Amino acid sequence: MENVKTKTRQKTRNHEKLNLRHFISSRQNNSLESRVQGFYLWLETLKKERELNYHRLVNSAPGREVLVRDFHSGKDVRLKMFASNNYLGLANHPYVIEQVLKAIKKFGIGLGGPALLNGYTSLMKELEERISDLKHQEETMIFSSGYNTNLGLLQALVRKDDFVVYDELSHASFYDGLKLSGASAKSFKHNSVEGLEEILRKQRSKIKGQIFIGVEGVYSMDGDLSPLPEIIECAQRYDALLILDDAHGTGVIGNRGSGTAEHFGLSTEVDISMGTFSKAFSMTGGFLSASKELVSYMRYFARSYMFSASLPPSMLAAVIAGLDIMEREPWRQEKLQDLLSYARKKFSGFKLAAYPEAAIIALSAPSWMDIRKANYKLYKHGVFVNAVEYPAVPIDQQRFRISLMADHSKSDIDFLVDAITAVWNDPSLEKNHSKF
Ligand code: PMP
Repeated sequence: MENVKTKTRQKTRNHEKLNLRHFISSRQNNSLESRVQGFYLWLETLKKERELNYHRLVNSAPGREVLVRDFHSGKDVRLKMFASNNYLGLANHPYVIEQVLKAIKKFGIGLGGPALLNGYTSLMKELEERISDLKHQEETMIFSSGYNTNLGLLQALVRKDDFVVYDELSHASFYDGLKLSGASAKSFKHNSVEGLEEILRKQRSKIKGQIFIGVEGVYSMDGDLSPLPEIIECAQRYDALLILDDAHGTGVIGNRGSGTAEHFGLSTEVDISMGTFSKAFSMTGGFLSASKELVSYMRYFARSYMFSASLPPSMLAAVIAGLDIMEREPWRQEKLQDLLSYARKKFSGFKLAAYPEAAIIALSAPSWMDIRKANYKLYKHGVFVNAVEYPAVPIDQQRFRISLMADHSKSDIDFLVDAITAVWNDPSLEKNHSKF
């Protein structure tokens, strides 16, 4: 054991060169013990060197300002929040909280079982109907998370002789669902309709089963939209079923926050709509909306639905209350759009990974910059953002992911841009700077 510790300690001395990938490789002599020990020591080193920006301890609701426990002083510090997907500012809305309390009083705190057996409340039915209406679909079912929605959807719907073609930037849950389905699948270059079409042209004659196309409405890393009109046109030409993951478009774009399909006037052209309650609704849970036949089938075959307890009534009530607010306070969506266009202008001198159309701004880190150290500097400037590091993205595409919320003001954005400008001009953040 001592030996392992010494070795991993030596390795973590070189911690700047390490990333998550080093701890999953299956090289010889890389035993589970050495991986686990090595990883732990690496995290401790990052913490000591003030480069660990994950698992921060938050002591307040994710509004425009949050209280975060400082790893070193043990005291709470106040930061401006630009990392939460609480896009509409519903996380701490008094009406939502009131409705949650009412639901707890009426239904208790949980259901103790899956919807199929004993967890299907009138609240769940009401939420299903409201989401079907929002998404212009016949029927909806609710899962315990967006992640579980994609797992259940692909596992139950797609069979081995089917073929799935999907955007390369699809969410991890889509990739994991594909593995469960066992179907053959191929990704196309991000947002490339030509790439999609080329795959379909080459594969069509070989496919015995159903073709599925998987895209997102708004891409979660860059905030750019899918070219949905062209993708739908292509799906129709190849008789493919379109699965649209609109986790980040729901609540943010389209009439009444209906999402990306509605934004393009194409809601009725999407075969299978999925989304999550973890972004604009600031909750957990996911949904799948489609024809009544397809949803009925999924209720009995999606394993992550059948074999997992359903969402507690309080959470269902929170999402229903969120839908009420979206209807009553459309200014939230409008203000978000206004803030976004203001932010786009303010960031015009910076390199963005994509042109943001939704509430996510992906700010490319310059190639000379040590992104972990830069994020700590942003923290010291009073800003909470997420650094997206390699291997989550290619090494030359590391970025800061900024989320805007209806709760923000233009002066919050000015504050953010000032902090970022200061960090961008900080020579100590150059990789391998002698001070470190
Ligand atoms: N799809 C996309 C596009 C997402 O961004 C996410 C969450 N990051 C999910 C699915 C999974 O949602 P949840 O967090 O509700 O599990």
